[in-house]
Amino acid sequence: MAEETLDPDDWTAFRALSHRAVDEMVTYMQTVRDRPVWQAPPTEVRERFHAPLPLEGQGAERTYQEFLASVLPYPTGNIHPRFWGWVMGTGTPMAVLSEMLAAAMNCGCGNFDDASSLVEDQVLAWLKEVMGFPAGGGGLLVSGASVANLVGLTIARDTRAGLDLPRLGLAAMERPLTLYGSRETHSSVAKAVQVLGLGREALRLLPVDDAYEVDRRALAEAVAADRREGRQPFCVVANAGTVNTGAIEPIDALADFCRAEGLWLHVDGAFGAMAALAPALRGRLRGLDRADSLAFDLHKWGYFPIEAGCVLVRDAAAQRRSFSVAADYLAPAAGGVASRTDRLAEHGPQLSRGFRALKIWMGLKDQGLAKLGRLIQQNVDQAAYLAERVRAHGELELLAPAPLNVVCFRYAGRPTLQAPDALNRQLLVRLHESGVAVPSHTMIRGAYALRVAITNHRTRREDLDVLVDEVVRLGRGLRERSGTEA
Ligand SMILES: *Cc1c(COP(=O)(O)O)cnc(C)c1O
Repeated sequence: MAEETLDPDDWTAFRALSHRAVDEMVTYMQTVRDRPVWQAPPTEVRERFHAPLPLEGQGAERTYQEFLASVLPYPTGNIHPRFWGWVMGTGTPMAVLSEMLAAAMNCGCGNFDDASSLVEDQVLAWLKEVMGFPAGGGGLLVSGASVANLVGLTIARDTRAGLDLPRLGLAAMERPLTLYGSRETHSSVAKAVQVLGLGREALRLLPVDDAYEVDRRALAEAVAADRREGRQPFCVVANAGTVNTGAIEPIDALADFCRAEGLWLHVDGAFGAMAALAPALRGRLRGLDRADSLAFDLHKWGYFPIEAGCVLVRDAAAQRRSFSVAADYLAPAAGGVASRTDRLAEHGPQLSRGFRALKIWMGLKDQGLAKLGRLIQQNVDQAAYLAERVRAHGELELLAPAPLNVVCFRYAGRPTLQAPDALNRQLLVRLHESGVAVPSHTMIRGAYALRVAITNHRTRREDLDVLVDEVVRLGRGLRERSGTEA
């Protein structure tokens, strides 16, 4: 019996299918504006995903047709110009190409003497320079800011524990470790604290001021109180762009505080750190270069496809201490494929690592950092435009300051609605289901808010006009239907 392979039997047919797929995906991206932002997969489509085990293959052509019919029409929607939910980047056509090229090479990135390691080294060197981190510092591309926060906080914990924590574990600690952030801190930080075995209560969530930035007096008091009561403060998490309102905290002042108190400064800059690329915004990040670790995403405000996160660490040796475990089968060799000594597996939790560096390297070379900076500024200007339109409209209400690219507002009606939360909840569902626009939602000081986070290089001001008109139209309709309410 002939030996088998997963390569095509007929390379010519596979080449033709590949060309068709590229053509169709280019058209798909080019025409995104003509489609609804989102549509729910109908029941009939959902049922197709309860198929029996595919024991025998059906071939590439039929499988591709199934993709076109059952998968492609039902995306999250974030490639669309009117998607502003959560914080999700748009992606780029060039990155679609890069991901295909990366998959063709299928490198084990960062651990071998190959080009994929050189590409990631190069990308990390660029990102360190952008963020003002030392060239000799550590860093790693990861899936996203959640993992970047986890990696940063792991190193913070291990470095500030006061004993060999990677070897001895938390059971050896005499005093419980505590860390600090505002109550606007992203849930991924709490998740990291939970995963790290510190217990979520170790994360002290402090009040914020009117700008939604951490109350620094409350921070100082909390650290002092924990010390008095026998706990061991080790880290402050500063926000560069909070998820709810886009607030950038005074990182410089927090760095001063951390230095005086001997605490690690970790910055969650998931999207906000990318403002470093926009000359007029860069000043707001003053002190970023003093952080011990920084988490940010290229897949949000860098517009790269998910997954593309990054963590930078001032002390590369500390990073290696947290993630390096020796193994005979991984020891560097004197030459050959295994001769790389600074293996990126020793910078983070993953051993096998995908070639996500390629899309970033190609994307930055293709478009340049200056253009990314202009797009980031464009999104900030668009958010200011939307906030102004909301402020000027008698039936809309701005619920929080909009200092960056996030706008929280609601349909308030005129005269003002008595129960705006319920109406706005319904309004958002209708808006999503209409396919016209996708903002998300949050709570701002107890009030339900429609939340627009613009990390979208396809958005135009006219798209925000469409949003305003549609929110007002739906708001009026819902109010009428609810009848008597004053
Ligand atoms: C999105 C976000 C995260 C988590 O990033 P992922 O890439 O989704 O893992 C963390 N912090 C903030 C402020 C965010 O906006």
